[in-house]
Amino acid sequence: MESNADLLVIGGGHAGVEAAMAGARLGLKTILVSLKKDDLGKMSCNPAIGGLGKGQITREVDALGGVMGRAIDKGGIQFRTLNSSKGPAVRASRAQADRELYHKAVEGFVTSQNNLTFLEDEVLGFETSSDNNNDNSVDNNIVTAVTLKKHGKITVKALVITTGTFLRGILHRGETIWEGGRVGDAPANALSDSLKSHGVNLFRLKTGTPARIKKDTIDFSKLTIQYGDNPINPFSMMTEKIEREQLPCYLTSTNKKVHELIKAAKERSPLFNGQIKSRGPRYCPSIEDKVFRFSDKESHTIFLEPEGYNSNLVYPNGISTSLPEDVQREIIKNIEGLENAEVETFGYAVEYDAIDAKELYPTLEYKNIKGLYFAGQINGTSGYEEAAGQGLVAGANAALKILGKEPLILSRAESYIGVMIDDLITLGVDEPYRMFSSRAEHRLMLREDNTIFRICPIAIKCGLLENDQKEKFENLKSQYDKLKEICTETKISITKDEKWLKENNYDLKVSMPLKDFVKRSDVILENVLNYLNLKDNFHSFVIISLETEFKFEGYLLREEQEIERVKKMENTKIPDDFNYDELKGLRIELKEKLKKAKPISIGHAMRIPGITPAALSLIAIRLKNERNQ
Ligand code: FAD
Repeated sequence: MESNADLLVIGGGHAGVEAAMAGARLGLKTILVSLKKDDLGKMSCNPAIGGLGKGQITREVDALGGVMGRAIDKGGIQFRTLNSSKGPAVRASRAQADRELYHKAVEGFVTSQNNLTFLEDEVLGFETSSDNNNDNSVDNNIVTAVTLKKHGKITVKALVITTGTFLRGILHRGETIWEGGRVGDAPANALSDSLKSHGVNLFRLKTGTPARIKKDTIDFSKLTIQYGDNPINPFSMMTEKIEREQLPCYLTSTNKKVHELIKAAKERSPLFNGQIKSRGPRYCPSIEDKVFRFSDKESHTIFLEPEGYNSNLVYPNGISTSLPEDVQREIIKNIEGLENAEVETFGYAVEYDAIDAKELYPTLEYKNIKGLYFAGQINGTSGYEEAAGQGLVAGANAALKILGKEPLILSRAESYIGVMIDDLITLGVDEPYRMFSSRAEHRLMLREDNTIFRICPIAIKCGLLENDQKEKFENLKSQYDKLKEICTETKISITKDEKWLKENNYDLKVSMPLKDFVKRSDVILENVLNYLNLKDNFHSFVIISLETEFKFEGYLLREEQEIERVKKMENTKIPDDFNYDELKGLRIELKEKLKKAKPISIGHAMRIPGITPAALSLIAIRLKNERNQ
């Protein structure tokens, strides 16, 4: 039986859910197809959301109306702010999840969303036809229909593909090799053939996961305990408070004996004996990778993370591996606290098809086939948050195009999602890409604390926020404006406030507006507002965001000016023989990156991950001097 939809999304993982929800929120008749209903919000690897660079993406997804932030607030069992002692640009939230609670939360959002139908099925392929343009020219490729194994043909106006690790997935554990999308799931091979038949270039990538250990066989008494934050800072602007019981994590580590076992098993490792040919994630490497690459290190930390309130499983973060089962057993036995540990499932690696993201527009539409979008792991990324960010952008753009509206394109200067998509489509990947704060050259502007104020206006313009989300943003924005006004108009007086200043050891010589007083590193705005009996009128996001803006006013202004200057220099050519070694003040690491990438213009250099506006300015000044000479 043939049916129809405006938008069809393949894959119920983090990318697929955000894509389908965005399409449906924009009012389109949307179908989400996935191999199993259990796929919705399934965490294939570690049960955690957020982390450095990833926490920022999660908050951006939330500010764009997505579900990831709300779901982790409902399913989190340990929330922490990473880098809390460092500067605001590199602070990031991370939460350990109860897998089942997280999945149930995502499923709840999907099943209650208007305009959205979920189908448990396999997509076998898609059809295209020629498209007559207004000027009588013909585009040969526009998506028209999708074929499902059980539900037959569905005609569509747009298609988003988010198949993760499933296309021609091959799993490796030592000498054992089998086909699968991830452990326990079949691969999706027919769709891979369909993509090839439409001329989409595919290449292979690899990722891996560690064993899962039975909690009641671990000796926690030998391990270092790690608690989460109290109070908890929720991910979503829609969550007021999280009061659920929080679970601790435990720390252990590898040791000399473990490293010897790994070295002795090198010939049996699919990574090193040629069995796995594709590249894995450099920044989330397997334990065998770490032992061989950092051979001088005698130990690597392992975080033992509980998988949920009612789960007897623990995820040993840090020992992802594809070594044979018997070697994995020996390794685990030799780790402190795990001497008698029993394994529920052994670690493995998966190789899968990915597309070349350089063949995508910034909207994530495929350049050669209209109406075809890609998001998530298939675009060469690794990680739930990266997948969710792309999914939202792909789904929103597919819908906005059908509606004849302006696309959603986030720039590098306004979001981490923009940084990621720009990196993917301009540089492509040769190993799974994961986000870090160092990839964002404007990270001081892209802080977690100002996400709502940066992103919600864009989301509202596109129509992505529901009424309650819009109201929440408007409320927070008016708090922000009010507090800014108070900080500008209220004076901290050396006479009127003398007693309080003394009690708090603030040495103040002249009275000054609160906004200037807060610039001092020893002043915390929340404490001042407490003293003024104003704290309860403002959300903590608002207070932290404004405090950061006051404290870093000079830097932020300079960064804005740099962005403007760099924009103007974008087309300036860099000669092939440009000598980066002669640039004084440029970090060695950045020199190496530039020498390797050989950018042809300032615009190209700008897109190399980690290249800062300051570095670009140095190059531009040198080019100008050389021209003048
Ligand atoms: P997925 O979450 O993989 O979802 C893909 C979905 O597509 C599935 O639901 C599947 O059923 C569906 N699907 C596929 N083909 C079809 C079809 N033809 N028809 C219908 N449905 C289809 N990330 C990290 O950050 N760190 C790690 O260490 C890490 N290790 C990993 C290890 C393993 C073994 C795996 C499998 C993943 C790992 N990841 C890791 C990656 C993380 O799980 C993914 O990046 C993230 O889940 C990708 O989300 P996605 O939505 O793109 O795809």
